[in-house]
Amino acid sequence: MKDCRQFYIDGAWVHPAGVDELPVINPATEERIATISLGTAKDVDKAVAAAKRAFESYSETGPDSRLALLQRIIEVYQPRVGDLAETISREMGAPIWLSRAAQAPVGLRHLSEMVRVLGSFKFEELKGSTLLRKEPIGVCGLITPWNWPMNQIVCKVAPALAAGCTMVLKPSEIAPLSAYLFTEILHEAGVPAGVFNMVNGDGPTVGSAIASHPDVAMVSFTGSTRAGVAVASAAAPTVKRVTQELGGKSANIILDDADLEKAVKEGVHGCFLNTGQSCDAPTRILVPRSKMTQAAAAARQAAAATKAGDPFTKGTNIGPVASAAQFEKVQRLIKKGIEEGAELVAGGAGRPDGISKGYFVKPTVFAGVRGEMTIAREEIFGPVLSIIPYEDEDDAVTSRMTAPMGYRAT
Ligand code: NAD
Repeated sequence: MKDCRQFYIDGAWVHPAGVDELPVINPATEERIATISLGTAKDVDKAVAAAKRAFESYSETGPDSRLALLQRIIEVYQPRVGDLAETISREMGAPIWLSRAAQAPVGLRHLSEMVRVLGSFKFEELKGSTLLRKEPIGVCGLITPWNWPMNQIVCKVAPALAAGCTMVLKPSEIAPLSAYLFTEILHEAGVPAGVFNMVNGDGPTVGSAIASHPDVAMVSFTGSTRAGVAVASAAAPTVKRVTQELGGKSANIILDDADLEKAVKEGVHGCFLNTGQSCDAPTRILVPRSKMTQAAAAARQAAAATKAGDPFTKGTNIGPVASAAQFEKVQRLIKKGIEEGAELVAGGAGRPDGISKGYFVKPTVFAGVRGEMTIAREEIFGPVLSIIPYEDEDDAVTSRMTAPMGYRAT
């Protein structure tokens, strides 16, 4: 079992200020696979102070040296893609084929893209008699979720490094192990001390301390709408820059003249990819009312062909959802769909047949869903699809708007 109780501050692995710990659970087995420490505001202070000191020199480096650093990170990252893939599958349950094809290598794509952009980026431009100079903003606070852990982390770290910023990362406490490996990669690649710092912990403590810290100039947050609201509120008194990517409930409108069966099957796969845990998953399929029966039949077939199982077993299409809390939430919403009168055409509550352990969910499809139903409006973040009928294209566009993208207190 991996001991991941240290934080990475000022170029070194250090002991946390507090004593609280959290087990990291493999969602396929419900077993502890590692332990992390839960940081405190003191750890955040220490990390921010290191990043602030490092900013003085790192912000003055030229684009060429930052380009060389990014290239060195790519070199160190490449041979560790396999390790990262296995770690991601163990910490959050993505099937290993998905971790190898996307979850782990996507970090390389972000780094390569940053190399490309930085190669020709103009930090200074003369506009008439005005010299426009783009400067690094300062210490960045980076807070990330568990669903695409490496994607979320690297798409924040790579541009911050390219711009000349320093940073403090708080990865998701549900999937912190890939962040550990990534930190090792940055260390080995020679990122200067203090430029990148990593503190583990929960959102209300470490996340909130980062968001409200007076020496953090900007927060980049990806996660739930609920936590996004908390981050924006915590950041407001220090008037820092806040960028957010929050929850989603994407609509997939299938038009009358489409190849219905093909479009529905592709829609089901899109919704179930990564076990339905993507912010851009097309979780609502809108079909012409006259084609609801056909669409439901095609979706039932696609769901039946979706195999939920052990992430490391060949033939598995979807793994478990990432945590016990996520499992409970998905179960609650499936039951709510049934209670509110949606037609269950595949899956349903409980684990898939033959599975008695792990946070596995049946690939589930509801047909005849109405816009006001909870499952049409709330982000479920599991392999659960809603098929919603529409009358004509105007109605489809209007229905698309019914799912609230904003925060709902209830
Ligand atoms: P989450 O909001 O629970 O957690 C995300 C991160 O925020 C974690 O590191 C968590 O510790 C931290 N956090 C939680 N409460 C906080 C607080 N009060 N202050 C500061 N930080 C806090 O989300 P999650 O469950 O990890 O991820 C799933 C959610 O993320 C879904 O809603 C999904 O749609 C969203 N997401 C969005 C995108 C996007 O690009 N739009 C991408 C991935 C995930």
